[in-house]
Amino acid sequence: MKRMTLGRTGLEVTRFGFGGIPIQRVSEKQAVETVLHAVERGIDFIDTSRGYTTSERRIGMALQQTDKRVIIASKSRSRTSDGIRTDLETSLKELQRGHIEIYQCHFVKNINEYEQVISPGGALEGLIKAKEEGLIGHFGISCHSLDLLDRVIDDGLFHTIMVCFSLLEPEARERIIPKAIDKKIGVIAMKPFSGGIIDNARLALKYVFSHQDILVIAGVEHKGLFDENWAIFQGSYELDDEEKEGIEEIRKRFERNFCRRCDYCLPCTEGISIQTILGIRSIIKRTGNAMLRRGRRQDVIEKARHCSECGECMTRCPYELPIPELIQKNLLWVDEQLKSL
Ligand code: SF4
Ligand code: SF4
Repeated sequence: MKRMTLGRTGLEVTRFGFGGIPIQRVSEKQAVETVLHAVERGIDFIDTSRGYTTSERRIGMALQQTDKRVIIASKSRSRTSDGIRTDLETSLKELQRGHIEIYQCHFVKNINEYEQVISPGGALEGLIKAKEEGLIGHFGISCHSLDLLDRVIDDGLFHTIMVCFSLLEPEARERIIPKAIDKKIGVIAMKPFSGGIIDNARLALKYVFSHQDILVIAGVEHKGLFDENWAIFQGSYELDDEEKEGIEEIRKRFERNFCRRCDYCLPCTEGISIQTILGIRSIIKRTGNAMLRRGRRQDVIEKARHCSECGECMTRCPYELPIPELIQKNLLWVDEQLKSL
């Protein structure tokens, strides 16, 4: 059962896909070699995004060097029909393709953004048109909020969803995945290492691979790491007692300091993007230190410096995280990284 059909897209894929985030932070040569190596081993699904800087271009370069069939899923952060069309055209150029199998609305944060996406003139309209023109095969949506995904599944407007799923974020297992599968919506599970926080690849991957009928994507930046993950994918997913204990130990270790990205703590009185600043270490680990000085990340960091420690967010966090304390710790870490730039 190492292969599956991705919902009503009808696309047949290996249940392990390649995530295009980490290849941004290495040399072009290494990135291309890594992608090519993964494809030669048997990967036939690659996820990327307009937002992952050089990722699409590097994937495009790699795929020029192989005849293997690979399904591409890319994404755009644009919420408008015209905006997503412009992004799609750039994606097609970067990937050196005339057609992308799945194009997704990237990181739709809340119901307001979703309403914008599905309204007249919104991104969905652009995606439907692009599908009619044969530029894309299907369209999907990625978001971190399970409440929002619940609504997305009810509406049934998208062919695929991308959901956070890991041993530290198991909630989707009960709430989202079965419901989506039932409605024949393809499920792409992202962040099996919870953004690089889980350092035991065996436990992290066995946990997510054991769930049938979902496509798991994990990003790597070199061949050795890919081979380790691929070997886990090829093996048995049964957990022995020691592994089960290992999972519990990881859960205990991160119980009070891991942000599940649910956004229940919002709104912040200072307009801080709490989940982003709490997850900044894993974001930077995956994308590289240079991102600390660029656009959105820099804005989030500067805003976070204005945390007044009012504590309002903590009254709403279901995991009782000490949010202001974690923000301060992360800002100290950020300042350390900035010194090295
Ligand atoms: S404690 Fe900081 S992060 Fe939380 S609501 Fe207040 S200002 Fe925002
Ligand atoms: S701080 Fe708590 S409420 Fe806010 S996103 Fe993280 S886990 Fe959710």
